[in-house]
Parts: sequence; C-alpha cells; structure tokens
Amino acid sequence: MQPGNTPLVEFPHLAPPGTRLFAKLEWFNPTGSIKDRAAWFMFANAVENGRLKAGQPLIEATSGNTGIGLARLALLNGHPMVICLPDTATEERKQLLRAYGAELIEVAGGPNGAIAHARALVEGGEGHMLYQYGNRWNVYAHFFGTSLELIRDWPLEQPPTHFFAAYGTGGTLTGNSRGLVRRWTGIRIHSVEPFVDDPISGMRSQDDPFQPPVADLSLVTDRHEVRSSTAGGLVATTMHVEGQFVGTSSGAVLHAAVDTLDREGGTAVALLPDAGWKYLSGPPWSSM
Ligand code: PMP
Repeated sequence: MQPGNTPLVEFPHLAPPGTRLFAKLEWFNPTGSIKDRAAWFMFANAVENGRLKAGQPLIEATSGNTGIGLARLALLNGHPMVICLPDTATEERKQLLRAYGAELIEVAGGPNGAIAHARALVEGGEGHMLYQYGNRWNVYAHFFGTSLELIRDWPLEQPPTHFFAAYGTGGTLTGNSRGLVRRWTGIRIHSVEPFVDDPISGMRSQDDPFQPPVADLSLVTDRHEVRSSTAGGLVATTMHVEGQFVGTSSGAVLHAAVDTLDREGGTAVALLPDAGWKYLSGPPWSSM
C-alpha cells in the first residue's frame, strides 16, 4: 500500500460561525501519519539512485513518525533499521517501532541529540541515513503528493483563504506551500509551531538554533506559536465536537486555524499529521 490519497473532510462544528474549516486526515496513511509520504519518497529515491544497497542497514534520527514509516519499508524490503530517538519519546512510539522490527537507540538532548548520534553512526560506516532534515524528497513528497491532492479534492468553487500545517522538518510546509501557491495565488500559508521551551512531539520552533536545511519558509505568511496545553485542549474539543481523535500536533494546527477564522473569517484547510493513539500516555488523556 502506497501513502497518500487521504480523506479531506469538513469540521463544521469546530469552525466558528460563518467560516468553513476542512481537514486532511493524514492518519489514513499506512503507518498512521503524514511521514509515510516522506519515508516512501526518500526510500524509493535512495534505491533508485543506488545509494541504498540491498540489505544495508538504514539509520535515521526521528521523534517517531518518520521512523515508523521507514521501519515498515525496511521490514518489507529486507533492511535492518536503526532508529535514534529522543529519550523523551512516548512508550507507544517505542513499542510500535520495536513491533516493526527496528533497533532503538535512545539519546539525550532531544531531536538535536538524536541527529548528532545518527550522524556519528553513519560516519562510522554503520549504514545509510536518508536524513529527512536535508533530503529534498521529504519536500517532493508534498509538492508532488499532498498539495496536488488538496487542489484535486477541494470541494468549494472558491479556493481556501488559509492553509495551516505544523512545522517539524519543514517538509510539509515547504512542499505544500510551493505547490499550493501555484494554483491558489493569494492563499495565506500558516506555520504552526511550539514555543522553544514547551515542545510538542514532531514539531520544531523557528527559534530553535537548528533549522533543517530542507526547510524553506519563504512562502509562509503567518506564524503561530502554540502552548502544548492549548494543543491538548483542542485535541479534547475535536474529539467531543467532531468525533475525531487527533494527535497533539493536529491539536496545535487546529487551534491556530480556529483562532484565525474566529478573528478574520474565511475558509481554511488544515493538515492533521496523525491521530491520538500514540499520545494516550500523555496529556490530556493521562489525567483521565
Ligand atoms: N506532527 C507530527 C506528529 C510529526 O511527526 C511531524 C514530523 N516531524 C510533524 C508534525 C511535522 O512535519 P514535517 O516534518 O513535514 O515538518
């Protein structure tokens, strides 16, 4: 099964009166997240250009979703998979990675610590790294995939006025912004980020000293910083009013979308990276 062709649905109860909000549900991908798209494109390209040899170990630094997508491809194609991940990653993520057969190396120092560790392993000749932070196929997955699907599936005559996505490696924002502005000139591109001192799994702040080389935010028109507790609040609200069980970064994206529609009106489309299953051991569910 290939990633993509995920459903685009309306969230009529979350949208403020007089506005419309549509969401693309990225947990309908093979391993349950938007990162299946990048994993597929990066893996296919590395096989095609001969850089990834048959049976060679794959090494990747990831907070979870890219690793889960790559671990599935490694398993299906006969490659050992080594994942360097922050030691703060949730138990659900680690269990899922192990279930896909990956070897886990837990590293201190957050995502940046994981990147440094993976780089050291590759320099020591231990395997091939697709390196999602610097791999342009991470962007192409959205330029040639997600953004074309959005344009194809958009149900209204008028294009949306706002597009919202979470910033992590920047693959999603870079690829979609480049794709969408070609057809929907004038659309506002909103980058949704955590505060540097209040992380949200899978997301990165533009204030973080490490900015992924693959990220080009030049088409971004608006930037939103969202507290993790605010994101958790929107996760619970979305469950209650739309009956959709979204992950924390989706909660952040939806907060920014609802807030903007509330202030400015219009029609918005939001990319929701994953569902809530991997976050059950964290807020808001852990306190229930
Ligand atoms: N949300 C979640 C849950 C993620 O795993 C990621 C990937 N890091 C993102 C958002 C951001 O996506 P991207 O890497 O394409 O910027």
